[in-house]
Amino acid sequence: MKNKVLPVPDINTPNRPNVLPIRAIFGLKEKSGEDWSEIRAIQLAAISVNPMTRTGVILGIGALTALALMNLVAVPVLVGWVLLNTAFALWMHQGTKPSQSPVRKSITSAEFGKIHAYALMGGIVWVSAFAAILASGQPADKVLLGLLSLQSATMVLMVALVISLSTLPSVAILFVSMVSLASSVSFLMVGQPLLALGAIGIAAPLCLGVMRHCRAQLGSQLSEGRLRDKTETVSLLLREFEDSGADWLWQTDTARCAIHVSPRFAYALGKDAREVEGEPILKLIAGEAWETGNYPNELHEFAERLKRREAFSNLTIPVKMNGQQRWWELSASPRINETGAFLGFRGVGSDVTEQCQSQEKISHLARFDTLTGLPNRLQVNESLSAALAYAEQWGSRCAFMMIDLDRFKQVNDTLGHPVGDRLLAQVSKRLQALMSANELCGRLGGDEFAVVLRDANDSTHINNLARSIITSLSRAYEVDQHTIYIGASVGSAVGPRDGRSVEMLMRSADLALYRSKEDGRGVHNSYQPQLHAIAEERRLMEIELRHALDKDEFHLVYQPVVDAMDGTLTGFEALMRWTNEKYGNVSPVKFIPLAEEARLIVAMGEWALRRACFDAVQWPSQVKVAVNVSADQLMSANFITSVVSALRDSGLPAQRLELEVTESLFLRDGGMAVQVLDQVLALGIKLSLDDFGTGYSSLGYLRKTRFNTIKVDRSFVTGAAKGVDECLAIIRAVVAMADSLKMSTTAEGVETEEELALIRELGCKKIQGYLFGRPMTFADTLPMFEPNLSHDRRDLYRKVELGA
Ligand code: C2E
Ligand code: CA
Ligand code: CA
Repeated sequence: MKNKVLPVPDINTPNRPNVLPIRAIFGLKEKSGEDWSEIRAIQLAAISVNPMTRTGVILGIGALTALALMNLVAVPVLVGWVLLNTAFALWMHQGTKPSQSPVRKSITSAEFGKIHAYALMGGIVWVSAFAAILASGQPADKVLLGLLSLQSATMVLMVALVISLSTLPSVAILFVSMVSLASSVSFLMVGQPLLALGAIGIAAPLCLGVMRHCRAQLGSQLSEGRLRDKTETVSLLLREFEDSGADWLWQTDTARCAIHVSPRFAYALGKDAREVEGEPILKLIAGEAWETGNYPNELHEFAERLKRREAFSNLTIPVKMNGQQRWWELSASPRINETGAFLGFRGVGSDVTEQCQSQEKISHLARFDTLTGLPNRLQVNESLSAALAYAEQWGSRCAFMMIDLDRFKQVNDTLGHPVGDRLLAQVSKRLQALMSANELCGRLGGDEFAVVLRDANDSTHINNLARSIITSLSRAYEVDQHTIYIGASVGSAVGPRDGRSVEMLMRSADLALYRSKEDGRGVHNSYQPQLHAIAEERRLMEIELRHALDKDEFHLVYQPVVDAMDGTLTGFEALMRWTNEKYGNVSPVKFIPLAEEARLIVAMGEWALRRACFDAVQWPSQVKVAVNVSADQLMSANFITSVVSALRDSGLPAQRLELEVTESLFLRDGGMAVQVLDQVLALGIKLSLDDFGTGYSSLGYLRKTRFNTIKVDRSFVTGAAKGVDECLAIIRAVVAMADSLKMSTTAEGVETEEELALIRELGCKKIQGYLFGRPMTFADTLPMFEPNLSHDRRDLYRKVELGA
């Protein structure tokens, strides 16, 4: 843009001649195509220069003349003439002193004509002096003397006039010729033809001189003016052209009406230059809005600037042109003359519709998610930032909600990304439908959505909205003939209480969301301060956990599983322990979910599996070992290979190994899980379903996989012992179902004799619990198999209280 050749600013320059014709300097009417209004303005400006001096000169010469004629003309006549001259001088003074109104740039020929009245009046005053001398009735020599003195006085006056009104030759010539003619006629009347000729002879060069001088001076003043105009124009153009590629110049007068309308400006307006000239600029730009006064914001600003006579640059304003929306960029500054008076505005403009449209598109792209059309992360951020600022300022509250879709990954993996995308679009529609004017929902990415609540002073509203979101998003979806069920977890945080910055508030909501996912999904949690501490601890612990395998910080403990009827040991469940120098003994309830999240569980699980096989092979052949397997581990690519190699390397027969899995496995990818479990069963390995009844309780998968054992969670055992009917009913139902499917049942967490009695009565086949033994080290399991101790196993089991 900078190197572009500047277009010649031929715009807005009125038609003006280079050599001024006589007609122009006499202020006569111009021919068509000529414009001398500006010339007339320059000419007329001269009359307002030093009116005081001029008036003084007229009065002074008048007084001197009266003195010279004292003993020639009768005193009353003389006094009358002096009064006449004074009246004339004052009248002219009044009419020509510089006015308060701004200096005019153009003057019509009619206005110009008016100033000749001064010359005419002045001429009459001084001609009357000649008449008074002639009519005095004095002797001829006295009259001649009087005429000569008057001639000298008028000469001084004429020279002074010619000098001061050199730009107004017509005025000067009118006065000079009237006075010279009067003087010449007077000399003839007193029989002095030579003096009469002399009077004319002096007038002629005066008139010619004033004309020539006028032409030269006007010419130079004009070109000076033009040069000033041009420099102004060029510098304006240069500046604007470099900045914005200006397309046209525009000008207004003091009344904010367009003047000197260039064809390019008119073209931009879709009009003819003549239609535009003299029209209010705001009317031209605002179009229909001019009548209603209903301007867009940008136009208000434009109007304000014009009103306040302030410069502005690169103001982008919408312009409606023939029903089409265009965008203009306008810059302008007020024009001020030498005396500081405001003349109007002069500026540049360009059509920036294309840039604006692409900018709009870009900014739309930058602020909206293309897949769902919802506001994207950037806009959510902005909106949250604004809501926070508002809440800070007014001491109110805003809220931020994070929504994560449950089981979305499964849909993507099994039905493919196109289906996943369409599902996300439907999710967005449902979300959007729940939003009020107070809320904005957006997509943060993936299957993560967010809601900004501008006003969250009512905490029940947050809960209600979260609940409606979960309910709405959990309804079935129809996508490409698939009926899909997913759920949603929600976490919310209230600003500024739970976070003073966007980042803090988002993190708080994220922690609450994390909590919801941990709580089993499909729930809403609001942020609690301890979540932060928990998260931080989790982060630090994760760092330690990463090195735990290498540093050999894990070991296994074994908890006996016994026959419910006779208490004989059937096997052990292997339970992992982590001993860290910083955290000491960490519970698996803590570190297993952490390992799952940090994707460390696969390696850890493999280690546990191998360790358990190598230990178990040293027990008597009827004793089994149960190993817990996380869903991630089971679904990992070489799970089967690692199981096979653990069995082979340890020499443990497959039927002595039992793998414990939980229902959550089927939530991820039911089909794939069933396949892997089939392979496990095909190897002769036993399977048990752990923590039954705590998960999702959809029993469909129980028909697909032949579990050997169902483990009844401890909560039902304690519940049943306390007489909770539901727990009793569940255990009964599980036992009945397991029997019918030829599965075994294990009751977990039996701690008391009462519980034991109840479990036996309910028909559970096996028992695991502190009553029979706590988890113990491998070394502590070995004495149990010594023949002489085998008669009192229960006492032995109880003595060993290690581990958990
Ligand atoms: P789980 O598989 O349900 O294991 C049984 C848990 O109940 C063990 O807790 C055990 O110590 C505890 N328990 C057994 N009898 C009683 C009782 O009478 N009263 C009470 N109050 N508790 C009893 P632990 O060892 O803390 O393990 C917790 C969970 O950690 C396990 O639950 C299992 O889900 C997981 N876990 C432990 N080791 C491993 C592992 O090697 N791999 C995987 N993936 N998960 C493991
Ligand atoms: Ca288990
Ligand atoms: Ca369990």
